[in-house]
Amino acid sequence: MGQMTEKISEIKSCVTRLLDWYRRNARDLPWRRDITPYRVWVSEIMLQQTRVEAVRPYYERFLKELPTIRDLAGADDRVLMKLWEGLGYYSRVRNMQKAARDICERFGGQMPGNYEDIRSLCGIGDYTAGAIASFAFGLPYPAVDGNVLRVMARLTGNGGDILNPSVRKQLTAAVEDILPNDVPAEFNQAMIEIGATVCKPNGVAGGPVCKGCPFETACQAHRMGRETELPVRVVKTRRREEDRTVFKLWSGDRCAVCRRPERGLLSGLYEFPNVKGHLSMEEALNTVRKMGFEPLQILPMARAEHVFSHLVWHLIGWSVRIGDVEPDETLPYQFFLQSDIKKRIPIPAAFAAYAGQNSWTDGTEPQERVMTGAGPADQQNGKTK
Ligand code: SF4
Repeated sequence: MGQMTEKISEIKSCVTRLLDWYRRNARDLPWRRDITPYRVWVSEIMLQQTRVEAVRPYYERFLKELPTIRDLAGADDRVLMKLWEGLGYYSRVRNMQKAARDICERFGGQMPGNYEDIRSLCGIGDYTAGAIASFAFGLPYPAVDGNVLRVMARLTGNGGDILNPSVRKQLTAAVEDILPNDVPAEFNQAMIEIGATVCKPNGVAGGPVCKGCPFETACQAHRMGRETELPVRVVKTRRREEDRTVFKLWSGDRCAVCRRPERGLLSGLYEFPNVKGHLSMEEALNTVRKMGFEPLQILPMARAEHVFSHLVWHLIGWSVRIGDVEPDETLPYQFFLQSDIKKRIPIPAAFAAYAGQNSWTDGTEPQERVMTGAGPADQQNGKTK
C-alpha cells in the first residue's frame, strides 16, 4: 500500500468517530433547520468571507423578505442591496439574483437537483455546488471550503501552499476518498464544523485543539507536532493602501449620498461623497465648494480604516453644514433624511464609521466649531453655488 493510501485509510477509519462527534456537538444554526436548496444556497453565499454570528440576522431577514427563488429573481436592486448592507462583497448577491433569474427561466423556479446544473449557475463554485447537492439533495459530492482544506492539510500532513490550485486539488481528492456515500450531508457538515470549532486556524482563532479531536490518532500533523505550522499559505500580493476623505454634507437634517458607478468596487451602492487623499480643513472646504455647495460650518470626524481583499482605505471625515438645497437632478448627489438612509439606502460597511451620525455634530471631534464666513442668512435662496 502506498504511503498516501495508507494515510487515507487511517483517516477513513476515524469517520464514524467524526460523525458521532458531530451528532453530539453540532451547533444549532438556523440554516441547519428546515433544509431546502434555497435556504442552503442563501446561507452558503452569506457565509463566504463572513462569520457565522454576523450572518445569523442577515439570513433571517433575507428569507423573510425574499422567501423564494422567484422573490429573489424579482427583487428591486435597492431592496437587495439593503438586505446585504454590511455583509460586503456585494457581487455575491448580484450573482445570486442572476442565478435566480436563470433558475426561473431554465428550471421553472426550482433549484435543479443535480450537481452539474447547480454548478452551472452564476456565482456557484465547487464548494457551494457541493454544499447544495449534498445538504439539500443528499448527493455524494464534497463541500470543500477553507475550513475543510485546513483540516485535510493537517490530516494528511500536506506542506504545500494551500492557495495553490494543485494543492487544493490534492486535498479535495483526499476528501472525496474518505466521503461516505450514504451520509454525504452529515459528513460535509461535520468536516466544516470540526474545522470551525476544533481544528481552528492559527492566530487569533487559537489554533487546533487536538486533545479529544476525533482524528487525533490518525492525524499526520499532530503526530509530527506540526499542527500549528500547517496549513502553509503563501500570500504574494500586498494590499494597496489608499487615503480618502469622506464628507457628511448636512442640509438641515438631510445628508448627501451618491451612487457609485455600475462597475468596479462596491458597484451600484450608495456612498457619502468622498475623494482621494487626506484633505486639510481648507482643502475640504474648497472641495465642498467645487461640489456646488457653500459650506457654513465644518468639523472633523473620526478616522477609520476599511480592509478590502486587495485594498485598504484609510479614511478621515469632515462633517459639513451647508445651506438649503433644492432637488436638482443634474447633481450627482441626493439628499435624504438620516433615518431614511438607515432604513432604505444601501451604504457599504466601508463607510460604517460615518453612517450612524444623527446630526451634523454627532461623532465629530470635540473642538471648536469652525464657521466658514457664510451664514444661514446667505443661504435662503435655494442651492448654494
Ligand atoms: S488532531 Fe489536531 S491538527 Fe489533527 S485534525 Fe484534529 S485538531 Fe486538527
